[in-house]
Amino acid sequence: MKDKLIESIEMNCPVCGGIHMVEKRLRETQSLFKGEVVDYEEVYFLCDKADDEENEFVPAKVMDFNLLKVRDAYRTIKGLLTSNEIAEIRLYYGLTQSEFAALLGWGEVTVTRYESKTIQDETYDSLMRMVRENSMLALEYLDKHKDRFTDKRYSEIRLSVKKRLDLSSHMYLKMQEIKSLYTKFEEESDYNGFKILDVDKLTTVIGYFANEVNHLYKVKMMKLLWYTDAIYYRRHGQSMTGLVYEHMTYGALPIGFNEILSVPTIHVVEEMMYEDIGYKIVPTSKVDKNVFSRDELSVLELVVDKFKEYRSKQIVDYMHEEKAYLETQDHELIPFTLASELNELS
Ligand SMILES: [Zn+2]
Repeated sequence: MKDKLIESIEMNCPVCGGIHMVEKRLRETQSLFKGEVVDYEEVYFLCDKADDEENEFVPAKVMDFNLLKVRDAYRTIKGLLTSNEIAEIRLYYGLTQSEFAALLGWGEVTVTRYESKTIQDETYDSLMRMVRENSMLALEYLDKHKDRFTDKRYSEIRLSVKKRLDLSSHMYLKMQEIKSLYTKFEEESDYNGFKILDVDKLTTVIGYFANEVNHLYKVKMMKLLWYTDAIYYRRHGQSMTGLVYEHMTYGALPIGFNEILSVPTIHVVEEMMYEDIGYKIVPTSKVDKNVFSRDELSVLELVVDKFKEYRSKQIVDYMHEEKAYLETQDHELIPFTLASELNELS
């Protein structure tokens, strides 16, 4: 069980009554909540001046924080949005807690309660998700409950929702472009690793790498994807994303490599590097690792461990030694049966 020191703080210790340094610690623990056993991490304080039996204490504020962790662990088990995820949704549209409640037509404090103590029921949960997924719906709800906002706030919020709507239709078009590039590969074959392109999976995998690898550039990202698919294919007889790769000068390059950089989990920053422009990939948000299966995560972690510190050129050189590269010609599609014969990784 994990139990580690966060920091030592000098404070008025409620256990022994003296002023001294106490340890603020974090440990894995379990709690029973609404009939479910939930695992979570709790914060507690330790006094080293008292006897071992009663040397721990938890200030009221920290207790609230721990309870929030318990509720969130419960929510995760039940497939409900966590308090942070609820906050992320309203902030996505630039709303306060009471504004988000007003937009949805709920009581003024409903969202505040969801973000602090009450577990939302499934109907409320799915409405919040839908409004996040579909900005058009958010706009409809805003108009429907216009009377709950001042004119000024109404137009400000409308503008911010419209901005999201424009962005998401742009994104939608980009995703359609990727799909249309892959219409040639709608059958499972040696070229897609017997997997039809899974855009959602690809989106989270790309987001995962952007989060785990610093100094990530375009060429390196493409190699990470290839190794991910090749290793996963080698282990499970199927690729992870369904991308199709071509033999190019800089190694394996997926079809639609430019289009896939417009997935919502990342954005691309142009950077001047020496005399050239580099395309640096940065994450737009954290990726929830729970969306990956254990098998998927094990491959992703292996790829990150191996190549994390590689520069683009190093990973290109490394890939040039693979059979998949040596035995295919320029612009030729790389079959997964070759891809799985990796030199080293498995
Ligand atoms: Zn003490």
